[in-house]
Amino acid sequence: MIEKVPNSAQALPHKLVDQFGRQVDYIRLSITDRCDFRCVYCMSEDMTFLPRDEVLSLEECARLVKVFVRLGVSKVRITGGEPLVRKNALWLFEEIGKLKNLNELVLTTNGSQLEKQAQNLKNAGVKRINISLDSLDATRFKTITRTGELDKVLRGIQAAKLADFDSIKLNTILMRGFNDDEVLSLVDFAIGQAIDISFIEEMPLGDVNHTRESTFMSNIDTLKLLQSKYPLIASVETTGGPARYWRVADAEGKSNTKIGFISPHSHNFCESCNRVRITCKGELYLCLGQEDKIDLMPILRSHPNDDAPLVEAILASMAIKPKGHDFDIRRNEPAVIRFMSHTGG
Ligand code: SAM
Ligand code: SF4
Repeated sequence: MIEKVPNSAQALPHKLVDQFGRQVDYIRLSITDRCDFRCVYCMSEDMTFLPRDEVLSLEECARLVKVFVRLGVSKVRITGGEPLVRKNALWLFEEIGKLKNLNELVLTTNGSQLEKQAQNLKNAGVKRINISLDSLDATRFKTITRTGELDKVLRGIQAAKLADFDSIKLNTILMRGFNDDEVLSLVDFAIGQAIDISFIEEMPLGDVNHTRESTFMSNIDTLKLLQSKYPLIASVETTGGPARYWRVADAEGKSNTKIGFISPHSHNFCESCNRVRITCKGELYLCLGQEDKIDLMPILRSHPNDDAPLVEAILASMAIKPKGHDFDIRRNEPAVIRFMSHTGG
């Protein structure tokens, strides 16, 4: 039983360690399930979004992050849905940016709002930024995102470069029949912009309008293709996540652009999992690909001035963190029915 914990900035003596000895020091917080895009791998054509009162307030988000940081979390990623379409989202970034024991505040965005917000986010303390980009062809970009404007995202990328984040990384999902022929042009673009790029294998989350097997592109094939064009140097760098990295060597043999592969199918990365996810409803999911979760919203709302029950629930959740996901694209049904936009990518 944990003693009553006052709301203070002090670190707690407890760390988040699960039954397999993995320490959780990274949280991904989705601050909205809404989005201005409807990417074909992420959402179905007709989405129903949560009513406002079922979504954590920004103050509740800030409180949760503070508690996790007191429990040893040193990295926070804000995601969604599209986090930057949430009204006043900047306030939350500013609050989190002030936390002393936090090493890294990072963001995943579709880039549509960056033209206006990049500099403010940098000023708030956002260190690194991931921008999703699946095509450099405007018509195709619209097909994949259903509603997105490529130009706006490209302007957002330029604004992010001007704001001078520690790193900017593109996130690309390759889908057979959609954008599988753009591997080289996307990497050329990243090299030209002096930014990084990661290829993410599509995961079977949510009931979208295609079978995942029909669009599956293995990162093994993508890497082979890239190796035939670029001198790639395997890198031992890690951001503490599942990505495996390669560097593109330049003419002097020095390496610059980093190419990452996040391969839940061709390379299982669960053994070193250091993260948990919190949805915009306050559900704490212990694994992206499993249903194990606890609901933090009722605890937050019934104890507005006492963090002890929250701390106790979060510590207890470590006992149910699963060993790993069991994604299988051949199953032809989602591994979990919730959409990526609900859980937060
Ligand atoms: N809207 C923001 C964006 O698109 O970057 C943040 C949320 S989005 C859910 C986070 C990441 O999840 C994006 O990079 C997106 O490409 C990825 N994603 C969405 N659905 C996915 C799926 N079914 N499999 C793998 N990655 C997915
Ligand atoms: Fe929106 Fe991001 Fe999902 Fe695309 S991947 S629909 S941008 S939440």
